[in-house]
Amino acid sequence: NIDTQQGLDYVFKVVLIGDSAVGKSQLLSRFSRNEFSLVAKATIGVEFQTRTVMIDHKIVKAQVWDTAGQERYRAVTGAYYRGAVGAMLVYDITKQQSFEHASRWLEEIRSHADKNIVIMLIGNKCDLGTLRAVPTENAKQFAQDENLFFMETSAMESTNVEIAFLMVLSEIYRIVS
Ligand code: GDP
Ligand code: MG
Repeated sequence: NIDTQQGLDYVFKVVLIGDSAVGKSQLLSRFSRNEFSLVAKATIGVEFQTRTVMIDHKIVKAQVWDTAGQERYRAVTGAYYRGAVGAMLVYDITKQQSFEHASRWLEEIRSHADKNIVIMLIGNKCDLGTLRAVPTENAKQFAQDENLFFMETSAMESTNVEIAFLMVLSEIYRIVS
């Protein structure tokens, strides 16, 4: 197929999920284009962004899907999860509710996606430490209980974004290779 012709070894679909306004779109633009905007923009038209990385001397294309705001109405559909091998479940460390909803999103991921999907819990906006509402320990415990990777990130300051995506991609690679 065309991907092998282009010299790609793997294409991994990764989905972003979580409450509205937690920073999913900004995490994606930070990872795919190294850009960040404080002005919330509605995602229109574009379904995913890609970035190619090297893992274990293999060329891996991450195809990262972003909800086009459907998460507001909990209207993310099965098609969104179809074929996904990774998921970034994002909450906002300053919004307790966005963390409480993580278990619902997790249920949804697990009911729609492949059972081997690699899931990382992401506490975003860690630059806003003074406004923190979710203690790191609570999230760590939840992640451990649910068998998820866990990382706190800041799309704004670029903290841990690269590491988080690469960790998920490497784990997917480890499973499929
Ligand atoms: P989404 O609805 O989950 O896609 O959230 P967005 O990516 O649109 O971000 C919602 C708002 O939070 C925007 O105003 C962003 O600029 C802001 N935001 C996103 N990530 C961060 C972050 O790491 N730190 C701070 N301080 N703000 C962020
Ligand atoms: Mg968005």
